[in-house]
Amino acid sequence: MSKHFFTEEHNLFRTSLKEFLQREVVPYIPKWEEEHRIPKSIWKKMGDMGYLGLMYPEKYGGMDLDFIYSLIYLEETAKVGAAGFSASAGVQSYMAFAHIYEVGSDKLKNKYITPGIAGDKLGCLGITEPGAGSDVGAIRTTAVDNGDNYVVNGSKIFITNGFQGDFITLAVKTDTTKGVNGISLMVVDLDSKGVSRSLLSKVGYHSSATAELFFEDVLVPKENLVGELGSGFYYIMESFQLERLMASIGNVAASEYAIDITLKYMNERSTFGRTLDKYQALRHEMSDLYADVFMAKSFIYQIVKQYDNKEYIVEECTIAKLKTSELVKRVTDECLQMFGGFGYMDDYEISRAFRDARVAPIVGGTTEIMREILSKIIFNDTKYKSTYKQ
Ligand SMILES: Cc1cc2nc3c(=O)[nH]c(=O)nc-3n(C[C@H](O)[C@H](O)[C@H](O)COP(=O)(O)OP(=O)(O)OC[C@H]3O[C@@H](n4cnc5c(N)ncnc54)[C@H](O)[C@@H]3O)c2cc1C
Repeated sequence: MSKHFFTEEHNLFRTSLKEFLQREVVPYIPKWEEEHRIPKSIWKKMGDMGYLGLMYPEKYGGMDLDFIYSLIYLEETAKVGAAGFSASAGVQSYMAFAHIYEVGSDKLKNKYITPGIAGDKLGCLGITEPGAGSDVGAIRTTAVDNGDNYVVNGSKIFITNGFQGDFITLAVKTDTTKGVNGISLMVVDLDSKGVSRSLLSKVGYHSSATAELFFEDVLVPKENLVGELGSGFYYIMESFQLERLMASIGNVAASEYAIDITLKYMNERSTFGRTLDKYQALRHEMSDLYADVFMAKSFIYQIVKQYDNKEYIVEECTIAKLKTSELVKRVTDECLQMFGGFGYMDDYEISRAFRDARVAPIVGGTTEIMREILSKIIFNDTKYKSTYKQ
């Protein structure tokens, strides 16, 4: 599959990225996991290498490369052995910038995307609130026009990069009487007066500093509105496709990583005078996992091509997110079993992979919401149209 998929340039890029990650990231993962944060200096190093702006135009400091480079980037960052790191990296380049890039003004792009790509500013995307996750339309954070600025009040929860971030693309209600048509997006500098944050303690994703953010009479310049007033909900729904594709790539790569470390362990660990990889029952179980991951990967590669060809692929991204999230949860669970009691020990990489994978069916739209979207396609013949391309 991959032989014909990647060019020589893609392969060279993967090799140098892997070397970079092995040198600058992998040795520090245990420290970052323990400290529950990633030092911001790594983003600068990654920015200097061009990794944070692979698909963005050169005029914002990007590399202007096809999406296959992003596929490679998302695969390799998912294989460093800590989904907290890959989530932070993914949010920075693909979620915090997404709306600004698609519908934001040139001024906003220069102010946030350019330093973001350089690794000088860390970004986040703020949609979820304590009272509104799956139900995006129920958000309650408000932005009131006071003539010169918007005045923002409310809170956001579970925000990746939120504790250390410099800016956030924030979903707010600019009109509380219009339902989803009253939702807008604006960029908020997180050092603004009235912003406070608290770090959240989680089951996994430890290196990613997930935060709850509070906004109290925060003044946001009107020029920080992203796209059109009242169109935020539709922008959010649209960019969920990229987020779900990105998550699916990470889920498959994390499954491959779990299988790799498990096969290695099975070759080393002996019981009853034989290494684990000699037991037929275990070989078959691993073969089954391998086959499921192989199939999922083939599908993901197909839809990556479609995404790269600018197709609007709601059904495909939904299926990918649904199936790969459940897959990585099962793969890491069954791989952990191969390690016996050692698999349950924090020091073992498989235990981190297992903890990290548990969030896959929750973030970026839950498994149940993916089934709900598919149900609408199957039962109601719902068709989804791109907002950006209208
Ligand atoms: C580690 C982590 C990082 C995150 N990063 C970010 C981030 O950077 N930015 C951001 O904005 N958000 C982020 N999130 C939030 C995440 O996207 C939400 O948690 C997710 O969308 C689910 O929302 P919720 O937690 O409010 O659950 P709820 O919406 O309250 O759902 C609770 C349960 O009910 C089910 N359910 C809800 N509605 C339906 C329905 N109609 N039919 C059937 N079942 C339903 C859900 O599937 C779920 O099982 C993050 C979350 C985590 C845990």
